[in-house]
Amino acid sequence: MVKCDICEEEHCLATQSCSACNKVVKKYQNKTKYPMDKLRDALIHAYSHKGTDNNESHFKCEYTGIVSKFNSKNETLGTSKDAFILTLDHKDSGSKELVVSLNIINKMKSDIPFDKFEKVVIALGEHFKNESEESSKELEKTLKQIFDGS
Ligand SMILES: [Zn+2]
Repeated sequence: MVKCDICEEEHCLATQSCSACNKVVKKYQNKTKYPMDKLRDALIHAYSHKGTDNNESHFKCEYTGIVSKFNSKNETLGTSKDAFILTLDHKDSGSKELVVSLNIINKMKSDIPFDKFEKVVIALGEHFKNESEESSKELEKTLKQIFDGS
């Protein structure tokens, strides 16, 4: 028996990870965009628990704390339909660090670095709560501050 490098449960496969975790690893194998060591780091960091049938590993979204699963198929994800499917995201463009993110948040964030994304969402939220000419101007000012010189 060997310990799964991601969930630490014992398994008797010849792989680094147990079958449930390995399903996720395999999805991203041979994709140069995602180096395997960074992928494993992200999964170890985000691991939550096994599903009831012990067959699927659940992970926590870095940005929302919401626990969910990766897609079992290899189809392109729909924005709304697959909002809760987990994906991998470069937390900051240019950095190699990968994190686990809900598909909907990943799509919204696009390639904005996380600290800027956070500020944009907060500023937008303030505007949406009480939309007015005044809040538009305030939002414009904030957005210019966030994206100036980037
Ligand atoms: Zn595992």
